[in-house]
Amino acid sequence: MKSKNDQASWLQGNGARCSAPGKFPPAPYHIVLLGPPGVGKGTQAERLCRHLNACHLSTGDVFRAAKCLSDNQLTPAIKAALGYMRRGDLVPDDTVIDMVVERVRCLNCQHGFVLDGFPRTLAQAEALEALLETINKPLDAVVNFDLPAEMVVERIAGRRICKACGASYHIKNQKPKAEGLCDSCGAALTQREDDREESVRVRLEAYESATRPLIDFYRSRNLLLNINAEGPPADVFDRLCFELSLAMTRKRRTVA
Ligand code: AMP
Repeated sequence: MKSKNDQASWLQGNGARCSAPGKFPPAPYHIVLLGPPGVGKGTQAERLCRHLNACHLSTGDVFRAAKCLSDNQLTPAIKAALGYMRRGDLVPDDTVIDMVVERVRCLNCQHGFVLDGFPRTLAQAEALEALLETINKPLDAVVNFDLPAEMVVERIAGRRICKACGASYHIKNQKPKAEGLCDSCGAALTQREDDREESVRVRLEAYESATRPLIDFYRSRNLLLNINAEGPPADVFDRLCFELSLAMTRKRRTVA
């Protein structure tokens, strides 16, 4: 059986190496996912990574992994970051950018990558652009998932995650086989701390003021793909694959 990559390089940083990286794809993809919290970026990122054999790089996952470390293993910047995260606020740009720069090996990996939750501000987008230029790995596409605001709130309120393996569910749209238990590992499902109502309001405001402007930033670079995120995850994924393959065909024709 194929063993799953443990994402150690990304989640732990500090020069850690991934186990079971698997076969490299012949044409690695370099993709950013955008969209409000709760739109389903994480679920689509997992599917897309399996499909493209790419690495799923989520900055939120790095912070959630840090929550499991003991106090003396945390740097002051990461400790402060966990406070911002709990309240639903964005972590300061310097902390997030330093964290990504420290993991540049993951951006340079021969698997390619799907960035989920980074960049979230213009300063982060500019830092990413400069970093990718230094390693000569320009972005292939930026996918923006669109969903009406009331559906965003419903999705977040019903989201449940498995703390043990990170799998994500929804109490209405993506039910686990046994109520409250993870299909993959059987552990109990919980609500993310920052999915509670007070934090969600702050996260949606942060998205509107800081992250939405990235849509124009990437549109002006001819990288933007808009995807309607309504409906079941499988339908959204079909739309995503269709638009992505069209965009890549267009791109190859322009390069040829
Ligand atoms: P996510 O799982 O992407 O929704 O991220 C969860 C939380 O981690 C966010 O609400 C922020 O507090 C923090 N976070 C993750 N990525 C970033 C980022 N690129 N910039 C600032 N804060 C971030």
